[in-house]
Amino acid sequence: MKALKPVILLFFTLCMTPGFLFAQEGVVRVGLFNDNIVYSVVIRTGPLQHQMVADDSLQFFLSPNSLLYVTTIEDRILVRDKNKFLGVFNGVEFLSDANDSYIGIKPIAPVIELREYGGNIIVKSSHGALSFINEISADQYIAAVVRAEGGSEAHFEYYKTQSILCRTFLLANLDRHREEGFQVCDGTHCQVYHGRTNWSQHIYEVVLETAGLVVTDNRGNIISAAFHSNSGGETVNSEEIWVKREPYLVSKKDPWSLKGKHAFWQKEITLDEWKDYLIMNGIRLNGISDNTLIFRQPYRRQFYNIGDQSLSLEQIRADFHLNSAFFDIYLQGDNLIFRGSGYGHGVGLSQEGAMVMANEGYWYPEIIKFYFPGVLISDFGEETIKLD
Ligand SMILES: [Zn+2]
Repeated sequence: MKALKPVILLFFTLCMTPGFLFAQEGVVRVGLFNDNIVYSVVIRTGPLQHQMVADDSLQFFLSPNSLLYVTTIEDRILVRDKNKFLGVFNGVEFLSDANDSYIGIKPIAPVIELREYGGNIIVKSSHGALSFINEISADQYIAAVVRAEGGSEAHFEYYKTQSILCRTFLLANLDRHREEGFQVCDGTHCQVYHGRTNWSQHIYEVVLETAGLVVTDNRGNIISAAFHSNSGGETVNSEEIWVKREPYLVSKKDPWSLKGKHAFWQKEITLDEWKDYLIMNGIRLNGISDNTLIFRQPYRRQFYNIGDQSLSLEQIRADFHLNSAFFDIYLQGDNLIFRGSGYGHGVGLSQEGAMVMANEGYWYPEIIKFYFPGVLISDFGEETIKLD
C-alpha cells in the first residue's frame, strides 16, 4: 500500500485548495442544470427550516415549505416570495444544517421538472443566466448517481460495485470544472445527478458500506473508471475510443453481458440509404457488388472494410444512432439490416454484466477485477488517517 502515498499527498494538495474541500469535510460541489441555460426558478424549501444568505451577509429565515421566485436581472439575482420583494443580489445561498433537509428547484424558464437536493444550494448569475451549485455530502451524491445509473431493483453487490466506481470517478475528476467553481457537473459530461429524485435509503446505506473505497492501478494511481450499459459480450480497448491506452481497460470476452436486457439489437435502413452514406463518406462503389457490403464481426473490429477501403465503426454508430459499434450487416431485398450486441462504448465495466454477476453470487471485488484486470481496491479513508 506504500505506493498509494504519493497519490494521497497529491489528493490532499488538491483538496486543501480553497473551494476544494472534498477530503476535509467529505463535501462535493456539483454544478446543476449543466445541460440547460436557466433564467428563472421557483425554490421550495423542504419540511425543515432553511436560511437564505444574500451577498454573504444578509440573512433570511425561511419557514418549511416556503416558495421563492428567483430570476436573473442584469446579471444579478432578483428574489421575491409570495407577498414581497426580498431584493436584488450578486449571490444567494440556501443553507441547512440538518442532514435530512432538502430544497426543491423548479426551473420555469425553461420549464424543467422539479428536482430536490440535500445540502446547500448556491445561486449565482453569470452571462445573463442563473447558475446553481449543490454542496452535498460526497456519499449522498454517490448514492444519487448510483440510483440514477442502476435503478432500484439491482443486487446490493452491484450497488457496491457502482458506488466504488462513482467515487473513483469523482476523485479522478475533482479538477474538471475548477474554472467554474465546482468539481463535477450533473450531466453526462461527468455523472448524471438529479439530486434526491427517487432517493433510495437502501442504496445510500450500501454506499456508506463502501465508504473510502476507490479503485487504483498497481502503482496506486486512481484509475479511469469507465463504464457503459452492456458490452455485447466483448469489452473494448480504451485506445480504440479515447486514444489513451490503459493496461486495465483492455478488451476481453464478457459472457455476463449476453444475459443483460440490452444484449442484442437490430436496426433496418434501405440499401440505397446505406450506399448514399458510403459515397458521402468517400467510399467508391463503382464495380462493387451488393454482397461486398455484407459484414461480420465474430469479434470486435474497429473498421468496416469494403475491399481496400474502410470506415470507422464508431463513426457509423454515431451517424446512425446505433446502440453499439459491435454489429453485423445483412442484406434483405432492398434493405440493409444492422444486427448488433451491447449498448454503449464498451470500455471498462458493463453495468448489465455486473448486475448479472451480482445476481449469480459474485461479490464486488470479483466484479471490479473482472472488468478492470490488474487493479486494486484501496481504502483511501484508512490510508488518509494513517498519514496524519
Ligand atoms: Zn462535467
